[in-house]
Amino acid sequence: MITEPPPTPPVVAILGAGPAGMSCANACLSFGLTPVVIERDDHAGGAQRSNFHPNLWMLGAPGESGEAMTRRMAEHFRSLPVHTLYRAEVAAVERENERFHLHLEAGESLRADAIVLATGLRPRATPALEKLAEASSRVLIGPLSPVIRDGIRDTDVLILGGADNALDHALFLAEKGNRCVVCARGAFSARAAFLDACARWPGIELRPSCATPELIPLPTGIRAAWPDAVRDFGWLLVMYGYLPNTEVLDRFVPALRPALTADAHVRVDAWQRTGVPGLYAAGDLTGPPQPSVPTAIAQGLAAARAIERDQRAANSGQ
Ligand SMILES: Cc1cc2nc3c(=O)[nH]c(=O)nc-3n(C[C@H](O)[C@H](O)[C@H](O)COP(=O)(O)OP(=O)(O)OC[C@H]3O[C@@H](n4cnc5c(N)ncnc54)[C@H](O)[C@@H]3O)c2cc1C
Repeated sequence: MITEPPPTPPVVAILGAGPAGMSCANACLSFGLTPVVIERDDHAGGAQRSNFHPNLWMLGAPGESGEAMTRRMAEHFRSLPVHTLYRAEVAAVERENERFHLHLEAGESLRADAIVLATGLRPRATPALEKLAEASSRVLIGPLSPVIRDGIRDTDVLILGGADNALDHALFLAEKGNRCVVCARGAFSARAAFLDACARWPGIELRPSCATPELIPLPTGIRAAWPDAVRDFGWLLVMYGYLPNTEVLDRFVPALRPALTADAHVRVDAWQRTGVPGLYAAGDLTGPPQPSVPTAIAQGLAAARAIERDQRAANSGQ
């Protein structure tokens, strides 16, 4: 009697081990899929890993900080039987028959039946500010670093940006005894509660319609030169918002690149399908109305469910 070998579970390559990627991997296991996670950092957790504020949107854990919550999720993720490649990045992705062939930068390669993009966002800055941050350790791009939490005390801080993160950080730093100047190119777009709180705080100066000054690195900070004034600051924080981490798509052959929205997020349907068969996306990369950990977790789960359903349909010839 000839016995058929058991069918091999479909392999799902998940790019990114933030909440969306970790949740997708976890759900893949319960849907009979084999997840392989490719994370470019040396740890799982994603953007919340250094958030020292309480996560207000995670039901069931009131008061828990983003970093404590992330530690909990990453610990669970690491306990799962999920093959995870850290410090790994995709170098090229092509189609091979009905499957994907992923070539990794380290020279390894992987064949997968589906791919989930879960690479999140990165802080936005101009090329000139990125260069300045490389030249000076007193220039920080984006929010939530341990230096902001622990290292900035009793000094003058210049914050560029006018949205929630700029004002939230001004309030946090003012509470630590710093004096903050917040410079927004146009009107402030931050939520009213932050604007009111900043306006009441004597150590915070809000400057709308403020041209970006000329910025000169100093040994102990940054000199900001406006046409009418020059002032030295201990630190410069750049809070210009975020860009989706879609640069990895340049490494996909053109036929496998998904459509993007007008603001450069990956376009998905309600099942997290991108429109390229077998390619899904979850989390901040898809530009959900309220990017958050619960949203990313839900989308990672939905992507796994969609893959299970689509693979079953493909295998039954539907
Ligand atoms: C300042 C701030 C405050 C926030 N506060 C809250 C809050 O209070 N509550 C809340 O619920 N949410 C909050 N959020 C939002 C929350 O952090 C995100 O919505 C959530 O982390 C999105 O998860 P994600 O998995 O989509 O992306 P991420 O968490 O960004 O994870 C993406 C992962 O992909 C990896 N990666 C990137 N590119 C590649 C690549 N090419 N190859 C492999 N891996 C790659 C990254 O290293 C990272 O590990 C906040 C965000 C910020 C910035």
